[in-house]
Amino acid sequence: SRQITLASRPHGEPTLANFATVETALPAPGPDQVLLKIRYLSLDPYMRGRMNDAKSYAAPVPIGGVMEGGTVAEVLASNSERFRPGDIVLSHSGWQSHAIADAKDLRKVDPSLGPISTAVGVLGMPGMTAYTGLLTIGQPKEGETVVVAAATGPVGSAVGQIARIKGARAVGIAGGADKVKALTEEFGFDVALDHRSPTFKEDLKKACPNGIDVYFENVGGHVFDAVLPLLNFFARIPVCGLIAQYNATSLPDGPDRLPLLMRDALTKRLTIRGFIVRDFADQSKAFFTDMSRWIAEGKVKYREDVVEGLDAAPEAFIGLLKGKNFGKLVVKVS
Ligand code: NDP
Repeated sequence: SRQITLASRPHGEPTLANFATVETALPAPGPDQVLLKIRYLSLDPYMRGRMNDAKSYAAPVPIGGVMEGGTVAEVLASNSERFRPGDIVLSHSGWQSHAIADAKDLRKVDPSLGPISTAVGVLGMPGMTAYTGLLTIGQPKEGETVVVAAATGPVGSAVGQIARIKGARAVGIAGGADKVKALTEEFGFDVALDHRSPTFKEDLKKACPNGIDVYFENVGGHVFDAVLPLLNFFARIPVCGLIAQYNATSLPDGPDRLPLLMRDALTKRLTIRGFIVRDFADQSKAFFTDMSRWIAEGKVKYREDVVEGLDAAPEAFIGLLKGKNFGKLVVKVS
């Protein structure tokens, strides 16, 4: 198996030197195990957290360990009654070309439902993140205003489209003219804004004349600064991600705005709730049913950014943290 491992821990932005490529001979699969050929590797922002040796909701990747990640794979050999060669499965095999996996950790992917890569995208972890975080914590109602950034990504694009299905007004924020254009033309957002524009703060205010009822937090940073004063009484903030600070090595410069945030949390009675998608694992069936129907009905569109070959993964991942991807970033491994 060709593997990409964590060579060293990044300080700030990851570099190519933090990754190493190694070739390893895999053992034969044991009882109830399968041999997998990885077809697609999902690249996701959370992987930056796994590169740090810090206490979090999941253990870090050890130095020399294979980089973690969701994968769509083909079964090459099986010692399990549940799988046969040729089956396509969802696995968590990480950044490698082949893997041995326990059958109990695999889920079958039905290739007749669409491109198999969607099992790590709109019909997988990111889609489920949008669905559960928005509907359970955000609870958008008809006529309300929902704001989301990283809005052309797999989470943000689904958030905006589900908000509209629920009758809310969707305001999408992205970086750069092409992405902003796609928000209204491809994903059907009501308004699209560029967070890199020097007038972003005023643009957001104009885009939300009735304030903000749901802010689906994907990024933090200067986007949250612009959102905070516009939040309505009883606004809900599902805290999904804070990508603007994943590469940070220290706190931002002052002034300390925490008292301001807490005052608003109190006086505006804000709901600010963090979540990790697996908290809502019991909703996976409802998610799958609703999302497949919305895709079939054309109510949810998705966009993939496919890079070729495992060796391209480190550079593509570094780019993801800077907004170089346009849509769900996946590596076509084979
Ligand atoms: P995306 O494909 O949207 O990629 C990340 C995007 O973030 C970039 O393309 C870029 O978009 C934007 N971005 C990067 N830096 C900044 C910045 N400084 N300010 C504003 N925007 C920035 O990623 P996903 O859809 O996979 O993930 C979106 C968020 O959801 C992430 O924070 C991720 O960690 C989180 N997440 C959380 C989960 C959970 O269980 N809580 C599960 C899955 C994802 P642009 O060019 O438009 O600025």
